[in-house]
Amino acid sequence: MRCYSQLDIKAVRQQFTDTIVIGAGHAGLAVSYCLTERSIDHLVIERGEVANSWRNERWDSLKLLTPNWQSRLPGFSYAGDDPDGFMSMSEVIGFIENYARFCKAPVQTGTTVTALKLNSNGYHIKTDSGEWHCSSVVIASGACNLPAIPKVAEAFPADIQQLSSWQYRNPGQLQEGGVIVVGASATGLQLAEEIHRSGRPVTLAVGEHVRLPRVYRGKDIQWWMDAAGVLDEDLDDIDDINRARHLPSPQLVGSCQHQILDLNTMSGLGIRLVGRLMGVQNGAMQFSGSLKNVCALADLKMNRLLKTIDEWIEQCPDGSRFEPAERFDRTAVDEDPCLGLSLDDGKIRTIVWATGYRPDYSWLDVPVLDRKGMIRHDGGITDSPGMYLVGMPFLRCRKSSFIHGAEDDARFITRHLATFLKQKGSAPLSIQL
Ligand SMILES: Cc1cc2nc3c(=O)[nH]c(=O)nc-3n(C[C@H](O)[C@H](O)[C@H](O)COP(=O)(O)OP(=O)(O)OC[C@H]3O[C@@H](n4cnc5c(N)ncnc54)[C@H](O)[C@@H]3O)c2cc1C
Repeated sequence: MRCYSQLDIKAVRQQFTDTIVIGAGHAGLAVSYCLTERSIDHLVIERGEVANSWRNERWDSLKLLTPNWQSRLPGFSYAGDDPDGFMSMSEVIGFIENYARFCKAPVQTGTTVTALKLNSNGYHIKTDSGEWHCSSVVIASGACNLPAIPKVAEAFPADIQQLSSWQYRNPGQLQEGGVIVVGASATGLQLAEEIHRSGRPVTLAVGEHVRLPRVYRGKDIQWWMDAAGVLDEDLDDIDDINRARHLPSPQLVGSCQHQILDLNTMSGLGIRLVGRLMGVQNGAMQFSGSLKNVCALADLKMNRLLKTIDEWIEQCPDGSRFEPAERFDRTAVDEDPCLGLSLDDGKIRTIVWATGYRPDYSWLDVPVLDRKGMIRHDGGITDSPGMYLVGMPFLRCRKSSFIHGAEDDARFITRHLATFLKQKGSAPLSIQL
């Protein structure tokens, strides 16, 4: 396998290789490691630097919600002295950079893929600094390239500041005055709390969400989900994969106090809870009356997960070493929640959209997108022979969304890819540099 230096790459403008991986986040690098294991000639093309999205697309105070011990990639894992801690953004960047160095990934940074086409010989990739031909391609360009903002955003008056969680860095960016955070996943709750602590009155619009305690029976909830096999649930275990792929992130925060972050915490701080934002009419926001129901549903699902954990412990020969089972207070909501808030009285100055993210495939010229603009795939294998996808929620199993889920996915994809290349017979010419 050839490693390309920046000099080599810049010297030759049109190149051939067996496989191009698009994106040098952890998922693309995990694939690179597995391709190298199989001696498959490849190149990773990255528009920014390694770990670009963690450098440029996250807010300042963010910490991973997965504990350090869970940060592992093929051949590599967290080696620090705080396995139960949570990485800050600079630590995540360092972790992924170290991984790229460790696996000697052939990464060409500062190069944006502008078009990907299929032709009779394979794939043709245009970038802003040259073109490539390859037999197979792995799309590892991320699931969170752009904010997913609902259409209702267009109905807000121009003097209300709008910011997505993708643009948000810290409360200093916000106008003085009241803020509404829309979305009650991990992002929405973390931002609502931080903005509240900056002294601004915060309202949180709550739709469907996933409630989890940080610690249960003396262990981190991620530990339990790992141990009880919940994170290993795969495509065959799931009735509605489309739904599983669109579940909001769990209400968790990584903090050294192992703090619980749920709607009761929000209310306790003085953050006002309202239902899902439905629309804007006559200068007022309208909220769904379903707040109580969505909270009851989230409580129910949390208790179902805790029951799964309890049952798993019962099967454990040394289950008595764990703390006793407990249940958490149900989510407290107003019997008569607020259904409308005026935008005319100057009390709400800013809206923060914590409504999720979506990938950007504007450069993809192969007919593999469904009507919602997502790549059709079966566990990462697309309809286009030799084209693969990694780094998406529930790609093959529940843990696919997390850093530690990349290994199994990358190994599966590269196994399939290697067979594809073998069946294809002739790998494309390896160019002499
Ligand atoms: C707010 C937030 C918090 C998260 N917290 C956790 C957590 O606590 N624990 C955890 O395990 N996971 C967490 N995740 C999930 C997951 O780890 C990330 O989404 C992760 O970044 C996905 O990795 P990736 O390698 O698939 O994509 P990315 O890290 O997004 O990497 C994709 C790369 O592709 C590059 N790229 C994109 N388009 C092009 C192009 N056209 N040409 C060239 N390069 C391109 C990008 O620059 C980027 O570097 C979090 C995600 C978010 C958004």
